[in-house]
Amino acid sequence: MVWRLCLARARPDDGPKLAPYRLALHCITLLASTLPAIAPVIDHEGIPALAPIIPSAHLADVRYEIRGALTRRARELEAAGLDIIKLNIGNPGRYGFEAPAHLREAIASHLHESDAYGHEQGLEAAREAIAAQQRARGAYHVQPERIFIGNGVSELIDLALRALLQPGDEVLLPSPDYPLWSAATILNGGRPVYYRCAASHGHLPDPDEVEALVTPRTRALVLINPNNPTGAVYPRELLQRLADVAARHRLLLLADEIYDEILYDGARFQPLAEVAGELPCLSFGGLSKVHRACGYRVGWMSLSGEPARSAAYRDALQLLAALRLCANVTAQWAVLPALQDAPTIGALTAPGGRLHEAREAVLRGVAASEHLDLVAPAGALYAFPQVRTEGIPSFDDESFALRLLEEESVLVVPGSSFNVPRSRHFRLTLLPPPAQLREVFVRIERVLTRMAREQADAAAAVA
Ligand code: PLP
Repeated sequence: MVWRLCLARARPDDGPKLAPYRLALHCITLLASTLPAIAPVIDHEGIPALAPIIPSAHLADVRYEIRGALTRRARELEAAGLDIIKLNIGNPGRYGFEAPAHLREAIASHLHESDAYGHEQGLEAAREAIAAQQRARGAYHVQPERIFIGNGVSELIDLALRALLQPGDEVLLPSPDYPLWSAATILNGGRPVYYRCAASHGHLPDPDEVEALVTPRTRALVLINPNNPTGAVYPRELLQRLADVAARHRLLLLADEIYDEILYDGARFQPLAEVAGELPCLSFGGLSKVHRACGYRVGWMSLSGEPARSAAYRDALQLLAALRLCANVTAQWAVLPALQDAPTIGALTAPGGRLHEAREAVLRGVAASEHLDLVAPAGALYAFPQVRTEGIPSFDDESFALRLLEEESVLVVPGSSFNVPRSRHFRLTLLPPPAQLREVFVRIERVLTRMAREQADAAAAVA
């Protein structure tokens, strides 16, 4: 850190002779100025009185750039009075969407029954409804005892991996991924091993490539379908081949299906649990996206497949669920009406619906661009455009996202935030009104055109 700060102080015009002296000088000045912090006073028990609080080393490789440095910069700009268009997060309530009224009513009418801790796995009636939904989808052996309700899928992803992993165990994750999967793997002592979902293959994984990554340490295969960030929706045959890989190598299938009903242009969602059959499979769903109720913090996971094989794992999940007592009871009352009453998301994703029209605006914006390509998202709440090489050969997704924010007041998430090395992508959400997305693409194009011109000028100067 000190060395990096010192480097930052070296001046570009320092010649090769002067640079080391200036660096040394700055290092000494900096060390002297931080001395009280790094060589603190020793108290009478020999404990450094001013020692800084050091966070856990487990966090060293943990990232969540969706709410990272760029977002903090956007907040600063907002505080300075700028109007920032934020496209960084799939939070429907922030873009004028509301949870269906009957979910709110269910919560209100059961408020008086929500004072006590509930069952560690969730309200019985809610678990019955989730089990019924899963069985109707073809999942094998799903009963309320095999359902776990949590404070969002986020909590359950951590729980599922904590109950599974030994230090050094490997988890197969998509690249790009939803970064919580990587973070939770690392925090629980595991090692993420990424399988590619490249734009050139419609952002779909290749089961042969996935299988080639399996080692004796591999424990689980994670699928995110419909996918965040790419919007890919996996066909049945592909899921079958991936389930076959899991069967051959005794892997636990982890299916993040939180966007299961958010589908466009006739795309069909195939639940993994049905093709997995008797294989142990943990399927995740929730209220956040399909029911536009992120703030309720209600998600669930459902364990399917032959019960004896996953009995010990189920018990471990129950123990971890019990350790945190229970999920927020109040919001769980919304689960039953969410799953049993008529679905509400279709009106938004069908032609004329807000999400459908937003997606159209994005597709048109990309089609009109000189610099962008896009695999049209078939599901979920995002688009993951790619910047072509021709006009901007040395594209850096992070500097692009920073320039877009600083120069055009638009916040997107760079592709590399989703665990893709050297990404030429960025992610934006489909949640804003279509007119705003049209404006966003005008601004994106202005930045890309400037970048292309700068690179052409630099190349011409060298030639
Ligand atoms: N999984 C995926 C793929 C997501 O995109 C998200 C949130 O954006 C989550 C899980 C977390 O959802 P929840 O709000 O239920 O914690």
